[in-house]
Amino acid sequence: MSEPTVPEGADAEAPEPEAPQHEVIVVGAGVAGLVTADALARRGYDVLVLEAQGRVGGIVSRHDLDGIALDAGAESFAVRGGAVAELAEQVGLGDDLVDPEPGGAWLRLADRSVPLPKRTMLGIPSVPLAEDVIAVLGWRGALRAYLDRLMPVLKVGKDDRLGPLVERRMGKAVLERLVAPISGGVYSSNARDLDVAVVAPGLNEAMTRAGSLSGGVALRIGDGARPGSAVRGIRGGMHRLPEALRAEVERRATIVTDATVDHVERTELGWAVQAGERRWTSSALVLATPGAPAATLLASAGIPVEAAPATTVELVTLVLPPLVGAPAGSGALVAEDAGIAAKALTHATAKWGWLAEDAGERAVVRVSYGRAGQAPATADLSDADAIALARRDASAILGIAVPEPIAADRVRWEQAQPSSSVGARALQRRVRDAVADEPTLEVVGAWIAGTGLAQVVPDAKEAALRIRRERFGPQEQEDEPDAVSDDADA
Ligand SMILES: Cc1cc2nc3c(=O)[nH]c(=O)nc-3n(C[C@H](O)[C@H](O)[C@H](O)COP(=O)(O)OP(=O)(O)OC[C@H]3O[C@@H](n4cnc5c(N)ncnc54)[C@H](O)[C@@H]3O)c2cc1C
Repeated sequence: MSEPTVPEGADAEAPEPEAPQHEVIVVGAGVAGLVTADALARRGYDVLVLEAQGRVGGIVSRHDLDGIALDAGAESFAVRGGAVAELAEQVGLGDDLVDPEPGGAWLRLADRSVPLPKRTMLGIPSVPLAEDVIAVLGWRGALRAYLDRLMPVLKVGKDDRLGPLVERRMGKAVLERLVAPISGGVYSSNARDLDVAVVAPGLNEAMTRAGSLSGGVALRIGDGARPGSAVRGIRGGMHRLPEALRAEVERRATIVTDATVDHVERTELGWAVQAGERRWTSSALVLATPGAPAATLLASAGIPVEAAPATTVELVTLVLPPLVGAPAGSGALVAEDAGIAAKALTHATAKWGWLAEDAGERAVVRVSYGRAGQAPATADLSDADAIALARRDASAILGIAVPEPIAADRVRWEQAQPSSSVGARALQRRVRDAVADEPTLEVVGAWIAGTGLAQVVPDAKEAALRIRRERFGPQEQEDEPDAVSDDADA
């Protein structure tokens, strides 16, 4: 059905337009591409997926260390919106959805490690004089944060950037010791660059109502702590999600791996896609690659767009002999002035019960590098030196002498800019506007939807729906149940 064809000779004349070989070609088999392909193939579309690597899943991938299957990239998903859990259920992983262990995250400050205060939003405390906040800020910092309650009432929209807003209202200590580690560790961003309206929707309005930033946070979080921070995982690892999606897609469509698409162009009846000498045609085209290759492919079709630069992130995973307890809960975010090169550490065997079972006596920790706008401290190191640095940093973060690893691995990723960065949404809108004139072209993935599976998955489903509407008209409904999986027959 989808055998690649060799391009015809340059002198070939083709007066009759060639019927496209496929209804839809999806370029890129990360989660965004797989979700789009699955949603369309389930509806009976003839879909071809082309993937540059020899495997699918993109950043959601697996590596095996000392016989333990681990996530090499994403290891959880945000519960917000419910789209990822719904997808997991759809591909048969519903019974394997798991919550992290209750240890919670810690902060590694310059002088000590402390649990992340409970009643906070993005690190901003709702109660500046709470005991767990004083433990982080000290009395001086906490009293400065409390001044927020006494300052004149805020005007909406005065600061659209998180960093300056926090510093002005609550002081440097809240910014540097609480908000900055979360911005760097969770969003790979500088707090200065995070857009309050995106990263904390409703906070501006709540501040105006409450008359202070901490009061606004209190209104937003209500009785719960850290809204939007809830994450879940999949027993066995997040990499099971693209593996299951691959199986679903391959029941109805074709995935060609080791096919790096380098050129796309319009044809009379749709699109032609080329990977070196191989060429395929389709009625509709979905680009599901990261930003840089997508911009190159769009340019090849005469659609110039700008992609925001991605942040390079490196993860060093260490499999260790048993550690006593969980010295920093499920992991720690590191303050920039802590004198530690790593930006965060995940104590994976303390975070995930299933992994602790799989690992037996062994401990697994993952140390991450690469703050926004800076190359990871590991970038120029050999693997052995990067692993040695990760071991030293893990010792500093956990406050114990981390033993010689049993096994270790180092992985490099390019992380798309979060849509929470100031200016990111405008840039994404410009890309969407640029492709809007092409009803048979869709662009999906983290660079356009925002980083994180909770953003990528619903966006990819919407793109699939737009393609269906293009073909069948507006009677296609977003909430229509997808066609029953063939699994139901088994
Ligand atoms: C280290 C790290 C940890 C993360 N942790 C989490 C987490 O815990 N939870 C969470 O929700 N999110 C997490 N994220 C973010 C999340 O992983 C991504 O937002 C999401 O996986 C992006 O999916 P995607 O399909 O858009 O892109 P990708 O996963 O990058 O997939 C793009 C695919 O396109 C292919 N491709 C590229 N160029 C071409 C070409 N020319 N031709 C054909 N194919 C091509 C690539 O090989 C790749 O397979 C993390 C990200 C990183 C970097």
